[in-house]
Amino acid sequence: MSHLVRYSRWVWWRIKKNPGTQNREIQVSSFSTAAAEEEKPAPPGPPPPIRVSVTESAGRGVFATRRIGAGDLIHTAKPLLTHPSLSANNAACYFCLRKLTPGESQGQTVAFCGQDCKEKAKVFYDVEAKADWAAFDEYCRTQGLKYPLLVKRLACMVLSGAAAADSLDILQPAYLTPEMVLQMQEGFGLLRSSFSKANIADEQMTFLTNQWYNGVLARLRINAFRIELAMGSYGDLLASASACVEAEAAVGNAVYMLPSFYNHDCDPNAHIVWIDNANARLKALHDVEADEELRICYIDAGMDRDARQNILLQGFGFKCNCLRCLSGD
Ligand SMILES: [Zn+2]
Ligand SMILES: [Zn+2]
Repeated sequence: MSHLVRYSRWVWWRIKKNPGTQNREIQVSSFSTAAAEEEKPAPPGPPPPIRVSVTESAGRGVFATRRIGAGDLIHTAKPLLTHPSLSANNAACYFCLRKLTPGESQGQTVAFCGQDCKEKAKVFYDVEAKADWAAFDEYCRTQGLKYPLLVKRLACMVLSGAAAADSLDILQPAYLTPEMVLQMQEGFGLLRSSFSKANIADEQMTFLTNQWYNGVLARLRINAFRIELAMGSYGDLLASASACVEAEAAVGNAVYMLPSFYNHDCDPNAHIVWIDNANARLKALHDVEADEELRICYIDAGMDRDARQNILLQGFGFKCNCLRCLSGD
């Protein structure tokens, strides 16, 4: 079940469905605009044209407060937590997940894209660097687990006073079977013992219970996003756009607040994109009218109906009744 993670693959599905140059042109222009925006920080503008409200069927949802045009940037979102994949290891910034060249990482196991990220990472890295993570990382690597790495990062942030232990409680948790809970015990034990061996006092670790660990993992399971960057550097832009999304590769995982409130649709009207780091951009795919619900696709939209239904039910705990599923596509 560890492969269940939110990601955005609608582009590939759409291009397969509608081969031709038009979609590529749209893609290039939207990426170019976004990349240009990255150059200079946007001045504080009006609040994003959205509201979070309770829906009739799916709990919370995100709605447009005015008309939004196809391709428009709806809002940006900074991650609450990030972690590079263990396979990406030193190939991505340990804070923002920006791709690093071998020269930048200089063979270190942990590398940052610059001084700014190095400074910002102090909220977890000062604590993390005190402990030996060999056993914990090995556990994640051999079992193919990525979310325990995010739990470890949150635990470090709580220990350094940079985050509250209940930071993620507002997010919907996945249902955990007794078997899953049993499997999580080993990770919890390794995490706690890494801190203990680093002489972190028990009084500081009162939050770090088995229940806390499982609760964070339950939320990460259905709310974490797999980060696939649209480009490694500005120069890759046109190449990656013309190669569709094949050039993309997951650099890590991250969790966000507002983007987690978007409900799912197999033919979504919005999507989440990452240009060169874990800062997310929510963009409209179609024209959206005021009060219309904005939805993203949590899974690979290129899968057939049965596969999508299965993965959404097993992984995310709901039966998809979107128009595409109802039409049998
Ligand atoms: Zn960085
Ligand atoms: Zn559906």
